[in-house]
Amino acid sequence: MNLIYYPNKILKIKTKKVEAFDKNLSNIIKEMKELMVKNNGVGLAANQVDLDLSLFIAKPKDKFYIFINPEIMLAEEEEIKEEGCLSIPNKWGLVKRYKKIKIQYQDIKGKKRTLKASGLLAHIIQHEIDHLSGILFIDKAIEIYNLKND
Ligand SMILES: [Zn+2]
Repeated sequence: MNLIYYPNKILKIKTKKVEAFDKNLSNIIKEMKELMVKNNGVGLAANQVDLDLSLFIAKPKDKFYIFINPEIMLAEEEEIKEEGCLSIPNKWGLVKRYKKIKIQYQDIKGKKRTLKASGLLAHIIQHEIDHLSGILFIDKAIEIYNLKND
């Protein structure tokens, strides 16, 4: 499993619904987690590792989250946030996001769940759900910065 970088086409697809909640799925998630942690990421979507699946993981701080077939049910209060992406190195941008969201998703066993999120987790979830629809932060950023490497 490897990270996929912009402008790879898989980053522009609308990912397919996960149907099989099996051993293969837990292996995929385990590998994605290792890759995300190794790259100091706080979120990673399946199409960022070349998989056409509607799932992403998140680790805002210590807690690790898995979201399968996620959908945003409710979003409140817009704000402008700074963000980057593991698939678009050395770029940052200002993006309009919601402060509070409510999502519906399935867990690793396929059980339907809902979650209310705010703060960094809400921000990550919106970025990752965009990935699963083929949308990148550079597509909606109101301003983009390049990081200079010395
Ligand atoms: Zn990203």
